[in-house]
Order: sequence, then structure tokens, then C-alpha cells
Amino acid sequence: MVKQPAKILVTGGAGYIGSHAVLALQQAGYEVVVLDNLVYGHADLVKEVLQVELVVGDTNDRALLDQLFQTHDFAAVMHFAAYAYVGESVSHPDKYYRNNVLGTLTLLEAMVAANIKQFVFSSTCATYGVPAEVPIPENHPQSPINPYGATKLMVERILADFDRAYDLRSVAFRYFNAAGADPQGRLGEDHQPETHLIPLVLMTALGRQPSVSIFGTDYPTPDGTCIRDYIHVSDLADAHVLGLEYLLQGGASDRFNLGNGNGFSVREVIETARAVTGQPIPAEEHDRRPGDPPALVGSSDRARTLLGWQPKYADLKQILTHAWAWHQSRHGLASSVTP
Ligand code: UDP
Repeated sequence: MVKQPAKILVTGGAGYIGSHAVLALQQAGYEVVVLDNLVYGHADLVKEVLQVELVVGDTNDRALLDQLFQTHDFAAVMHFAAYAYVGESVSHPDKYYRNNVLGTLTLLEAMVAANIKQFVFSSTCATYGVPAEVPIPENHPQSPINPYGATKLMVERILADFDRAYDLRSVAFRYFNAAGADPQGRLGEDHQPETHLIPLVLMTALGRQPSVSIFGTDYPTPDGTCIRDYIHVSDLADAHVLGLEYLLQGGASDRFNLGNGNGFSVREVIETARAVTGQPIPAEEHDRRPGDPPALVGSSDRARTLLGWQPKYADLKQILTHAWAWHQSRHGLASSVTP
């Protein structure tokens, strides 16, 4: 008998990280169904690029989930669907708790009812809050400083309890700063609205906005700007496949940081982007953005050791080169940009 490939439900598969994970799953031989409410996701990427089944709906819709789990025989669920704007989570925490916590709880309840017991979860380094040490290890205390981080931490706790109560095993990945794009240019970052540094730097390079803002130049860092650990989205996606396989092979619930272990300042990102794009990229200095810790760098030794994960694109220049190729193809060069 020919063995069928395992089928995986990917929630949020029309989003930035989720879509790259779908691609990685396909490349690893899995069959994928995407569930996405398309509030922020892109249907064209799922239908035209990834060419997998797209179910448009919400993780809060229990009837839809029950029907989905009756129709398909899923080996596991990979859960990316979440709101992820830190500032908005401060101004509209209800929206975040409803979607990120209640939506996930509904999904987990439906999974237990359907006897699907393996779950890969998108968590975040924002669960740590302001770190007491860098690189941050997984056992660092978690005290988020914004509702977004709090929603993700709550889900991590729910997962621990669901494991004890229902044997639902999970892997939670705490991402540092996802960046870059599929090296072959099929997928990339396209947020509306965009708040992240690298896409805004590249939109400035494209002439789509006059300058990029540097939020804070008086941090206790070598050049005064914030330091972040930028991790290539395709490396993140590969880690999800490894995490899934770890669970499918019977691995116990666990959590892993996913970062490069290298920090780059805002100024270093802008400088490197100038070199990669050949564009001047004007920058303006502004006050600090509320809620930004000075430096966030992760230790990902655990993922390397336990999952055999090895980032392929740890170099910032390479990350920016892939992101730049995507931004040019998705958003096009404005006529004012020097060729
Ligand atoms: N940042 C900035 N200008 C921008 C956007 C971000 O200086 O227009 C800074 C931000 O303060 C942070 C870093 O760039 O220190 C990365 O921010 P981003 O929003 O990309 O990711 P976050 O670390 O908040 O998840």
C-alpha cells in the first residue's frame, strides 16, 4: 500500500511566517490545508504560489473547525493565526485576547474533540519582556510588557495544561525578529499596515516613503539604537518542520527560541540595507517607541541540539538581499529611485 503523506492544518498560512512554513512543509512532502480569515493574510499567495486548499475562516468558529476536522484526517496543527501588532495590542487588548487567546483555546478544544494531539505554536520573544540577560535562554523568566506578549504566554500556559489533562503534545517556538523572504522570491513580507523596521527600510529604498524613522538613539547600546536578533523566515519555517517531526516521532512538549544569536542595531540594519540596495535610504531620528527593550538576542542552542536545527541564512546581508528582491517584485521601484 502506498503511504499517504501526513496532512497538516496550518492556521494563518496566508500570513508572512505561515506561508513560508507551508512552503517548507510541501518541500518536506506534507499535504497542507490552510485556515486563514484573510484579515491580514494574502489569498493570492496561498492559491497561486502555494496552490493548497484555503479555508477562509476564523479559529474562533468552532462549527467550522469541527467540520474541518471531520472532513480531513490531520496528523497535527501548526498555528500561526494571531494578531501581532504590539502597539495595537496596547490600545485594543480585547481584540488581542479574543483572537489570540480565545481563538487558540477554541482551536485546541476542537482538536481534543477530534483526537488531534500534536500542535506547533508560534510564540514570541515578547513573552520574556525586558531580559535580565542576553542571549536569552528558554528558562529565562517570562514577564511580557505588552498584551501581545501576554496573549502568547497565556497560550503557552494553556498548552502545558492541555498536555497534562489531554495528552496534547506541543512545541512552542519563541521567535526573535522574523525577516527576509523565500530565497527563490516566491513569498515574502507584506503587512498592511507595515510597522517593522526591515520592510520600512526597504520601502524607503524603493522610494515609497521619504525616510525611515529611527526610534530612539539614547539606548545603552554601542550606537544608541535598539539591538534585535533578525532571523531568516525560511530558517524559521525549517524549524517548524523539524518541530513537527519531533512531535510526530513522539517527542515530549517543549519550547524553543528561534534566533540567530547575533544582534544588530537599527543603524546597522539601515547601513547594511544601503549597501544591499545601493540606495541612500534617508533616516530621521525620533524619540523611543514605547515598550521597546534596548536589546533582544536569543540563544537557540536548544533548537540546534534537540531538533538539529541549523539556520542557513544567518548573515544580515543575505537576509536583506532576499527581502530586497521580494520587495522589488511585490512593490516595484518608484521612478524617483536612482537606478
Ligand atoms: N524601529 C525603528 N523604526 C521603525 C520601525 C522599528 O527604529 O520604523 C526599531 C524598533 O524600535 C525596534 C527595531 O527597530 O528597536 C525592530 O522593530 P520591529 O518593529 O521591526 O520589530 P520588534 O522588535 O518590535 O518586534
